[in-house]
Amino acid sequence: MAKNLAQIAKSKKIKYFLISFVDLFGVLRSKLVPTRAIAEMQKNGAGFAGFATWLDMTPADADMFAIPDPDSLIQLPWNKEVGWLASDLWMNGKPVDASPRVMLKKQIDKLSKKNLTMKSGVECEYFLISPDGSSIADPKDIQSKPCYDQSALMRRYDLIKEICDCMIELEWGPYQNDHEDANGQFEMNWDYSESLVTADRHTFFKFMVKSLSEKHGLRATFMPKPFENLTGNGCHAHISLWNGKINKFLDNGDRFGLSRLAYNFLGGVMHNASSLSAFFNPTINSYRRINAPPTKSGASWSPSSISYTGNNRTHMIRIPDPGRFELRLMDGSSNPYLLQAGVMAAGLYGINNKTDPGEPLSCNMYTDYRNYPNLSKLPDHLEDSLEEFGNNKNLKEAFGDDVINSYIKLKNQELDSFDKEESFDKRSSITEWEKINTLDC
Ligand SMILES: [Mg+2]
Repeated sequence: MAKNLAQIAKSKKIKYFLISFVDLFGVLRSKLVPTRAIAEMQKNGAGFAGFATWLDMTPADADMFAIPDPDSLIQLPWNKEVGWLASDLWMNGKPVDASPRVMLKKQIDKLSKKNLTMKSGVECEYFLISPDGSSIADPKDIQSKPCYDQSALMRRYDLIKEICDCMIELEWGPYQNDHEDANGQFEMNWDYSESLVTADRHTFFKFMVKSLSEKHGLRATFMPKPFENLTGNGCHAHISLWNGKINKFLDNGDRFGLSRLAYNFLGGVMHNASSLSAFFNPTINSYRRINAPPTKSGASWSPSSISYTGNNRTHMIRIPDPGRFELRLMDGSSNPYLLQAGVMAAGLYGINNKTDPGEPLSCNMYTDYRNYPNLSKLPDHLEDSLEEFGNNKNLKEAFGDDVINSYIKLKNQELDSFDKEESFDKRSSITEWEKINTLDC
């Protein structure tokens, strides 16, 4: 029996529900629904005009309905009157294929047919900036190597503590908070979970960090590269596959502690990485972060080539511990659902085709890349990743031609809008267009 939201509202004193969904560009959209209407909305969903969002629809299309998943309910710790719900989109009595949450659930179904579940954890980096977006918020945060700077971290204690307290209350298992490698940059970590739970939490985390930062007179941005000389916002993901309580990625007999299945999965991710940049690095600004020159701190901490390694942060895939790997390609603008769905689709391809990732590399890829001229490079521009994406038969098969074509069409419209005003050059300053369109990603 699905949870009864009307009853839960009564017992938890929830007065309003945010029935929310994320569109193809990762924008979080909602209706605020009073509790008196939640029983009907739980059954039939909240109505939206699809064309008004990034979902390749027309103004003539029928109403789209967001049907909330009661298991995703989060009572806002900072405003207990409100309950947040993630939803799946429906139209004309069918799930909307291009609804990112529906896309992820389809990949989860495919994996479950192999009796496997993907678990993942995400590391969402963000900057605290001035409300007008022109600079970092803390004028004292000027060290050239500011990573783990205790004073800069503690100057933001009130906000960081409030966010972490929320995660404790929500039982996400938060375990550390730090100042990251760029001035003004922070990261907060919580426990990994099944991919759908992580995607919902990732979506909510961004909303929570932005909302609480505003409350403190600040602005939080997950923009991939808000300042050209500073390290960008990554969104690394740690991945493992499970059968019940058994980690199917774990093999203690292997040098890195990974099973054959894990190497095949990882091989599938490497094989499709350039195309998947369209999901993992979905904004024009994303391409200032990957393939980037070293920053003021000495390293960009982002990948440029498609390679894997043991415990070494200069490669796209790192194996930090037995039984999981870390994919370091994604940035703060990646859509939480497409991030998980993309990893899963590529991994499934790897499993089905027994893809061999080849030998790992142990070099410092930031300095020694010239020694590996045959390694595939990551795309330099959104245009390049979209082109690879459009030609990738595996991903078209995984998600369906229509969904991929819609995504590419909408992204090309975005590129057109950019090209009318600007031209992309990594060596020049971040454009006004990028700031206006990416600061709140
Ligand atoms: Mg980090």
